Amino acid sequence: MMKDNRIMIPAIAFATLLQGQISDGKSPMPSPWKDPGYMKLVWIQSPNFGPRPKDAVVDTIVIHSTVIPTLKATTEAFQRESSQVSAHYSIGKDGSIVQNVSTFDRAWHAGVSKDARGKENLNHFSVGIELVNLNDGKDPYPKAQMDALKAIIVVLKRRFSIVQIVSHEYIAQPYGRKSDPTNFPWDEYKQFGLPLYYGKPK
Ligand SMILES: [Zn+2]
Repeated sequence: MMKDNRIMIPAIAFATLLQGQISDGKSPMPSPWKDPGYMKLVWIQSPNFGPRPKDAVVDTIVIHSTVIPTLKATTEAFQRESSQVSAHYSIGKDGSIVQNVSTFDRAWHAGVSKDARGKENLNHFSVGIELVNLNDGKDPYPKAQMDALKAIIVVLKRRFSIVQIVSHEYIAQPYGRKSDPTNFPWDEYKQFGLPLYYGKPK
């Protein structure tokens, strides 16, 4: 089955990376900065996170665009306590992955939000993934970046009972507060067999 192979190959690669590369989860910002490289992950812990509510069931993936042009600058922003923002993962255009917050903790990426079920405050029960992209509608999402995102989705589907993948645009309240990720190739994500919510909520 062609469809399965396409997602399983990066998943295996990614699972190997997860075992091999995560140390204490609290690496400092590498100096000088170096992007981890295609399908490689470094964990650079953000101070901007907290516990999930005790009864939270993680079942949603939120896709974002950074607007920030590089993985380095995105990571720096999540390192600054004053920014009060973070995501669980950020993915560079070359498929480099930086993890900033454990998926078992609550990252600060969604803001005031509501999903199609009417559930509010998506930070409680979602995993936030940032894609390095200007979000101007022209900046592309390269294949390498999509490979890494698909691999992360496969891993998250194994770890949690994921029921939906949503855009930040769709869940941000009030509607229009956010537009990311603009021009994202949603059709490629139908293969996961999950409801995809993006664009304007009905
Ligand atoms: Zn966003």
